[in-house]
Amino acid sequence: MVQGVKILRALPVFSDRLGLNGKCDIVEQRPDGSLFPVEFKVGKRRQWENDDGQLCAQALCLEEMFQTTIPRGAVFHADSKRRREIEFTPALRTLTEKTIADLHALLDSTAIPRAEFREACEECSLYEICLPKATGADSRAAQLADQLFKT
Ligand code: SF4
Repeated sequence: MVQGVKILRALPVFSDRLGLNGKCDIVEQRPDGSLFPVEFKVGKRRQWENDDGQLCAQALCLEEMFQTTIPRGAVFHADSKRRREIEFTPALRTLTEKTIADLHALLDSTAIPRAEFREACEECSLYEICLPKATGADSRAAQLADQLFKT
């Protein structure tokens, strides 16, 4: 830990530009005034980029709120007690903004898309609720529902 770092916990953040709001687990304010978000995760590192995108979205909010630039942050994995630094590259920023735009489009639409089972589902915290194998587009349940509601 860098000397003289101020820790801001559960900091509410927002972005008018992206239509986002949320809360940062921790934001470190360094002695030079720079900000460094840290996201806590209970499990081990996942192979997908969700954590990176979530942290990047927090950085985008902080940048807009404080009119600053945040080049990197970190995800702290409780299992390994390791901190993984993430650079907010142009590619990660673009991916994060596209994901946010896709999410807004989904929220604006009236259709609820069927779950589609992918490898990433195995690590998803919503797996038990979503049941993508049982209720997904190719499932028997989906086919029966389609028949039932066919007009
Ligand atoms: S389990 Fe459901 S919510 Fe999670 S990634 Fe798969 S389809 Fe998406």
